[in-house]
Amino acid sequence: MYAFPSVEKNLKRYVDAGFPILYIHTFEEVKADRYISDAAGGKEIIEWNGSEGFVRFQSKQPFNPPGRSLEATLELLKKGKELDRKLLVIKDIERQWTTKEEAGQGGLDKVTALLKGIAYKIRKEEIDATVVIVSSVLHIPEPLEKLTTVLELGLPDEEEIGSIIDLSMKNYGLPAVNERLREEMSTVFKGLSEAEIEDLLHLAISDSDDGELTSKALRLIFDQKRQIILKAGILEMIPLKEGIDDIGGLEVLKGWLQKKAKVFKDVKAAKEFGVAIPKGVLIAGVPGCGKSLSAKAAGKLFDVPLLRLDMGRLMGKYLGESEENMRKAIRLAEAISPCVLWVDELEKAFAGVSSGGKGAEVTTRLFGTFLTWMQEKDSAAFVVATANDITQLPPELMRKGRFDEIFYVALPNEEERRKIFEIHLGKRRKADIDKIDIDKLVSQTEGYSGADIEGVVGESIENAFVKGSSELTTKDILDCIHSTHSLSEIMKEPLKEMAKLYEDRKFKKASR
Ligand code: ATP
Repeated sequence: MYAFPSVEKNLKRYVDAGFPILYIHTFEEVKADRYISDAAGGKEIIEWNGSEGFVRFQSKQPFNPPGRSLEATLELLKKGKELDRKLLVIKDIERQWTTKEEAGQGGLDKVTALLKGIAYKIRKEEIDATVVIVSSVLHIPEPLEKLTTVLELGLPDEEEIGSIIDLSMKNYGLPAVNERLREEMSTVFKGLSEAEIEDLLHLAISDSDDGELTSKALRLIFDQKRQIILKAGILEMIPLKEGIDDIGGLEVLKGWLQKKAKVFKDVKAAKEFGVAIPKGVLIAGVPGCGKSLSAKAAGKLFDVPLLRLDMGRLMGKYLGESEENMRKAIRLAEAISPCVLWVDELEKAFAGVSSGGKGAEVTTRLFGTFLTWMQEKDSAAFVVATANDITQLPPELMRKGRFDEIFYVALPNEEERRKIFEIHLGKRRKADIDKIDIDKLVSQTEGYSGADIEGVVGESIENAFVKGSSELTTKDILDCIHSTHSLSEIMKEPLKEMAKLYEDRKFKKASR
């Protein structure tokens, strides 16, 4: 999916060949600076960035007058031979583009028009120069598309991380970390930029005794990485608490997940054996019946980090920002892989894809990015998507090749309700469980969801405590059942329709 040429191999070649605009797509400004320095080949490098304005590249000292806008800088550089034998680096450009509506006549905003003018001068060989845009947001205005070449500078892979660790230890004058720890650290550092890795190493070293890194450092690095991912604001790292044994019923789904877990536990061997790396699963169906619980349990079962993608936070305000956030999330998940990527409330994110209208345009592009990724993915980022209402989902998503399987979660049957009661009573009132007539509870809770049952258990325990009882009895729970309304009472018709729909589409039932 990210089939752009790499900066490492191509930047210098393209500069030498006189390409007018190069667009380095990256989260790593510091690393990009290094490659730009190497590629300049004796040309002077100048820079414009959002915080300082027009500055010298190495020192970041502003030219006079300081704080010049990008537009004013480009006006200046466009004149005569001003830019000859120079490399102009532009950062933070994503805030400079304007939308078509804002741009006015001809739909061309000032920055685009000036860049276009400069690019033509380079093309016609009036000047020998290159414009290098460095940005984490990939957005190229249409008039510049043919003049721009995109290069990708990815996050460090495990091998590069290993070298960063070695070099940092050497620079601090410390002994190299042992092989095992180095390997573990390389895995934990995945998904972070070079600068972030160096900062965390520095922190781990100052936190250690005598500067020697031990497994204690791993914990620190992991916690800090959680912070970094959290701050990026799109993916949330969920602590692994619930396991497969916390799910009552859904035996078919659990068995399926257990099989995939075996593949995930040793992706390398599985790949060598010819096993296709599992892409993911869509779990749809009745609210409160264990969809989210299954997503969480998958993380623990696979023994990998669990990342939740917050679709709401994906939507940005700059041009191209929402898609860029989606790419960022995908890239992070791939870098952190093996991992489970939980996409919650899928229908909320992609509802309205086919409805047309202004908002739908962004959603449709977001959806396209997600779909292509699912289709082509061969990394060990396993997607667990959960949805309540699949009628809201675009049909393309349910075609073969996207998810390995689509499961339908229905209201729990008798056997499942028994298990759910046992799980929740076992968690809170283990001592009373043998005295409670679970059969009776099961027979009185037809049409209750897992969440309803959990609610009944919780409330009856609270009632028993408040009235001063020393134990929880069957009667306490039955009283509670009789005073609540089950999900199927409240949503009788929609649930019936939902069940029919899933049966018609022949989705796999999560329960036996
Ligand atoms: P929603 O679509 O409303 O998010 P959901 O299907 O994702 O619903 P969960 O969040 O998994 O529902 O369930 C809510 C709570 O109900 C869980 O935290 C769990 O305590 C309880 N629960 C639901 N189903 C089960 C189950 N099969 N076994 C045990 N507990 C369950």
